[in-house]
Amino acid sequence: MPDPSGEPFRALMLRQGGDEPTAEITRLTWRDLPEGDVLVRVAHSSLNYKDALAITGAGPVVREYPMVPGIDLAGAVVDSSSPDYRLGDAVLLTGWGIGETVWGGMAEYARVRSEHLIPIPEGRDAFWAMSVGTAGLTAMLAVMALEEAGIWPAQPSATRGPSDDTPADSSEVRVERLPVLVTAASGGVGSIAVSLLAGAGHYVVASSGRQDSGPFLRSIGASEVIERVELEQSARPLEQQRWAGAIDSVGGSTLARVLAETRYGGAVASCGLVGGGALHTTVMPFILRAVKLLGVNSVFTPRDLRLKAWSRLAYELPSDMLQPLTRVISLEEVHGMARQMVAGRGRGRTVVDLAARG
Ligand code: NDP
Repeated sequence: MPDPSGEPFRALMLRQGGDEPTAEITRLTWRDLPEGDVLVRVAHSSLNYKDALAITGAGPVVREYPMVPGIDLAGAVVDSSSPDYRLGDAVLLTGWGIGETVWGGMAEYARVRSEHLIPIPEGRDAFWAMSVGTAGLTAMLAVMALEEAGIWPAQPSATRGPSDDTPADSSEVRVERLPVLVTAASGGVGSIAVSLLAGAGHYVVASSGRQDSGPFLRSIGASEVIERVELEQSARPLEQQRWAGAIDSVGGSTLARVLAETRYGGAVASCGLVGGGALHTTVMPFILRAVKLLGVNSVFTPRDLRLKAWSRLAYELPSDMLQPLTRVISLEEVHGMARQMVAGRGRGRTVVDLAARG
């Protein structure tokens, strides 16, 4: 691919350090970029938990240094040898190993593989795409997984709504219309999950470890907010049925408790592990309550499903819904923000504006 200007551009670069990698803003040219059939002028990237682990070295995300971090990017095509993309096309890319095994989105240009790109949905722009980012795609995939498992918003009903299908002869506690739970609710995945579920008409209970998150979570659609510690306590094999479904980004003892508290026929989408990767539970929720545990992975989601998820996101998550949960930072601010996220102090979504300075 030609580099007519040879002009250097800015990129955040991670290099192997001592205890943790160093993160410095450096200058690259197009010639430095990895192979790929499309060159993108990156307008925005975003900061996800995985990026925060990569940038601070708190988790083994980066496989090879030096590395441009950023598992998300959005911008415009400036050069393409792919028949699928032309100059000026608005595109986004999340996952597929960018920012982990190949250079990612925190640079003014990225050279990528066309099969990994998604056209930005009509009427939306790069800023919107990165306000959603991997976290939003994950939340939407989780919502879709719940729907496939039969978890839809309950219709108001004097007797039984669609999610009140406990068998008539069940000796379990009588289950009225139950809420959907979102854990780690003030984080990126959590806050978008709250918005999507509430927008669809679910009664959403948000679990958060932050005392001051209540007003924020209610403003984006949570009907109730509960404290994270409530779900961290170890659970009996079956607990009182509280949830029709759940989207969990915490894992560990929280996921074990959520499974034990999920109603007959309910489903739990497991997205993350901020509270731990181990899962100590019993088979009781599965064999006595027919609870489904649904795995969600956004990195290698097949293209067809991605396109479906992004078109739903464009429709169900307009910019005004994202605005209260999105902050914008410059490349210089990425490292400080990554530290906050690793310390569990992230809130909502963080968009990185490649044109911003300082
Ligand atoms: P964020 O940093 O945006 O949010 C994390 C949230 O988790 C915090 O805001 C906090 O919410 C909560 N939290 C922090 N520490 C703890 C803790 N020790 N115990 C319980 N809760 C805690 O992260 P993301 O939303 O980007 O990612 C969340 C998780 O989902 C991560 O594990 C990430 O790796 C995973 N993920 C998985 C994807 C997939 O494809 N499966 C894709 C994207 C993310 P609060 O204060 O409200 O409790």
